[in-house]
Amino acid sequence: MASGMRSTVKSKYESYRKILEKKAAEVQSSMSAQKAAQVLAREEHPRDEGDLSQQSHEEWIFLNRNTLDIKLLREVQDALRRIGQGAYGVCYECDEPISAKRLDAVPWAKFCVSCQERVAARAESGNEEAFQEAER
Ligand SMILES: [Zn+2]
Repeated sequence: MASGMRSTVKSKYESYRKILEKKAAEVQSSMSAQKAAQVLAREEHPRDEGDLSQQSHEEWIFLNRNTLDIKLLREVQDALRRIGQGAYGVCYECDEPISAKRLDAVPWAKFCVSCQERVAARAESGNEEAFQEAER
């Protein structure tokens, strides 16, 4: 790999790295807050044998509710890894640089604007998993 480039790339994207790290911490803490709230709610009800199936249902709801968060967290961590590898800010599809304007709006963007539109259209038309860009 082009390790000589690394320090330059790192400083160039240092501000994005900070934003991404903050975002990751934010998502993680909101997830554990939801989990904590749920555990508290559960303890209001006395436990019995029937609780087991109820519990797995609650866990299913929890996972569902957190799918977006988990997805976002994965995107953010992925972006952080790309910064570490010096591969940040390059489109997955066409290998073109992603514009600073786009990275400012969505620091974990994997695709340039035109590829993102193609990917979204593909996801809409069928089997491919939708690539969510939850902006919060
Ligand atoms: Zn592209």
